[in-house]
Amino acid sequence: MPRKIFLLALKSLLICCSVSAQARPDAKPSTDVLIKAGRFLDVRTGNYVEAAGILIEGDRIKQIGQAIDIEAHTPKGTVVIDLSRATVLPGLVDCHTHLMARIPDAPNGYILNLATKSEAFRALEGAADARATLEAGFTTVRDVENEGSGYADVALRDAVNQGLVEGPRMQVATRAIAALGQYNPFGVSPDLPEFPTGAQMISGVEEARRAVREQIGHGADLIKVYADWNYPTLTVEEMSVVVEEAHKAGRKVAAHATTAEGQRNAIMAGVDSIEHGHGADRQDLEMMKAKGVYWVPTMGYYFYHVDSARSPAAHEYMQEVLQRARQNIPIARELGVKIANGFDPSSAEEHGQNAHEIVAMTKLGLPPIEAIRAATTSAAELMGWQDKVGSIEVGKYGDIIAVMGDPLADITELERVKFVMKGGLVAKNDFTIH
Ligand SMILES: [Zn+2]
Repeated sequence: MPRKIFLLALKSLLICCSVSAQARPDAKPSTDVLIKAGRFLDVRTGNYVEAAGILIEGDRIKQIGQAIDIEAHTPKGTVVIDLSRATVLPGLVDCHTHLMARIPDAPNGYILNLATKSEAFRALEGAADARATLEAGFTTVRDVENEGSGYADVALRDAVNQGLVEGPRMQVATRAIAALGQYNPFGVSPDLPEFPTGAQMISGVEEARRAVREQIGHGADLIKVYADWNYPTLTVEEMSVVVEEAHKAGRKVAAHATTAEGQRNAIMAGVDSIEHGHGADRQDLEMMKAKGVYWVPTMGYYFYHVDSARSPAAHEYMQEVLQRARQNIPIARELGVKIANGFDPSSAEEHGQNAHEIVAMTKLGLPPIEAIRAATTSAAELMGWQDKVGSIEVGKYGDIIAVMGDPLADITELERVKFVMKGGLVAKNDFTIH
């Protein structure tokens, strides 16, 4: 079908359906919706429930059962969405996004990004990335720092919540905290001291404390720290103060760490998750298990780009990271370290390709159902939203996706999500196109 006709057809279908997600203030569905699912995946048991009905009232799931039983008792005016040819799953969760990041793949790309775009423009880029992420089936994200766009992520989160733009539910880390001079952008002239930075740069415990308080004051849902950047950077003392201040305010702390020492420092400081953790060994994973720290491995980029690496050195590094992941994923499973899904997209092309991460995890040793849990129940727990998202259960948000085939047999089905509902509103429905 030509694209224009396709779009017109889609538009008319969505207009006739009163649960379509039109961007409007405080968008909430006004009609009950019954989803008739060919089958849905109970992510806790790993079993499919056949011929299921999921009744959604407002933005929450009200009832689950056999479709035929529920349909017999639905109130008049209930909208029925027929997904009887499809496999239905809970909306996916990505715990490591950077929706504000469209960093050009060019020399000094990070500097260019900061030098040529206003924070207002960055927010609009974020809105486009949020829509792409939602349409890919990710109804919730934990956005772990906005790469120098001020507090644009707070604005985007609030705009999504108010129905002004379409996107996933968001927790945002705002600016992140890094050791002075130890994070992007690198190479800016010292004659430009006011040049924006990719994170809030601190030196010493009181600056760390102040940064956390400031970020929470401006709307941060969690705090992100950079425990290292090729070598350890923030000290244990600095990160401990970050954790103390964040936890006091009920916020979790996510730590970027790719070196073994950086990771250990972050764990000792009491962070809640290790992002990347590429340098971990068995002892580090044992430490994570003992302290209940989540691991967000972010392997997808490496898995999909290793063969197109720019230089032999980059290729070798990526190979090493993947090799270590192949060793560590089985160890993490054996020890019971909780793994949460996070793709780490930072370019225009990567937003919306988040399911690559789930696929990569299975190629590196995680069984499909466990990779799906990493992107649903486990991710929801890391975010502290286990009572809201991550599974299709009564009382949770009506965040539901559907694919054509069997994702347990072919995990790449999750790269081809055809239906997305968030909070009872349909954001995408390709099943209506024949
Ligand atoms: Zn990242």
